[in-house]
Amino acid sequence: MVRFYNYDIVFAEIPDEVSLALNITGCPNRCPGCHSTHLQQNIGDVLDADALEVLMNIYGKAITCVCFMGGDGRASEINALAAYMRTNYPGLKTGWYSGREEMDSAIDLKNFNYIKLGPYIEERGPLSSPTTNQRLLKVLPDLTLSDITYRLTK
Ligand code: SF4
Repeated sequence: MVRFYNYDIVFAEIPDEVSLALNITGCPNRCPGCHSTHLQQNIGDVLDADALEVLMNIYGKAITCVCFMGGDGRASEINALAAYMRTNYPGLKTGWYSGREEMDSAIDLKNFNYIKLGPYIEERGPLSSPTTNQRLLKVLPDLTLSDITYRLTK
């Protein structure tokens, strides 16, 4: 069961999008120097279709994208939630921030517009750092991936 700690309306995580960023808990990655250790715990409210509906009723007209921040331990459920958004809110984009090096096999790219890959490595810096190891990928219409990390570099 996917749970989330909180959410924010953010502008920087996905270029050109106003994103509802859902901070998913239960992160299994254990990156040394983790910047959000509370997200490693299995805490927070259940994130399911009903929870998405509540959030869409409040923020659906103010956002252009829903971004799942984490959830590597439950990638198939993240994929299902993104599919739900695709079906019920086709005007909204979807994104996933994964801390894995490689795409989880449970992810169906047709459910996503953006995927972030890569663990947090303290000395390489965050996604906005010129030395970051992480990559923000845009899913193109033919389901190939375009690296748009440069759009976030400060
Ligand atoms: S992916 Fe993020 S939350 Fe998870 S351990 Fe790494 S830095 Fe912490």
